[in-house]
Amino acid sequence: NSQDEEIAEAENLKPAVGIAAIQVGIPRKLIAVVVPDPDDPEKNLEFALANPRIISESVQNSYLEGGEGCLSVPENHEGHAFRHARIKVRAYDLLQDKTVVIPAEGFLSICLQHEIDHLSGILFYDRIDRNNPMKEDPEAEVY
Ligand SMILES: [Zn+2]
Repeated sequence: NSQDEEIAEAENLKPAVGIAAIQVGIPRKLIAVVVPDPDDPEKNLEFALANPRIISESVQNSYLEGGEGCLSVPENHEGHAFRHARIKVRAYDLLQDKTVVIPAEGFLSICLQHEIDHLSGILFYDRIDRNNPMKEDPEAEVY
C-alpha cells in the first residue's frame, strides 16, 4: 500500500520496499518485501517470508550508492552499507504457502539482507564503516 501514491497519502504511509514484523512490535521472524521485477518493470516481486535464513552468500559485495533508508530510522545516515552481491535465502513463503529457496541479486538481494538483519536487531547503519562511510569497493556491484 505504501507504494500506491493515493493509499499512501490517505493512510499517511511512508513509501518502502520492505518491513520486518519486529518493526511493528511483532516478535516473529517474518519479513515482507515488494520490489520491482528487474525482468518486467510492470511487475513486482513479492515475498512474505517466515523464518528466512541466508544459506549462501557471495564473497563479492554490493551497495546502494545513495545509501539505504529504513522505516525504523527517521534520521539520515549517509554511507555505503555493504551487502553480499548475491545470496540464497531459504524461507517459508506465506504467499506461495511453501518452503522456497530464493536466489537473489541486485536490489532484491540488498532488500532481503536489510530485512533479515532486522530479525537480529541489526540496522543498515551498522553496516556502514564509521571511520569511512563513503568507502568504496572496486570489486562491488554498485546500484
Ligand atoms: Zn529497515
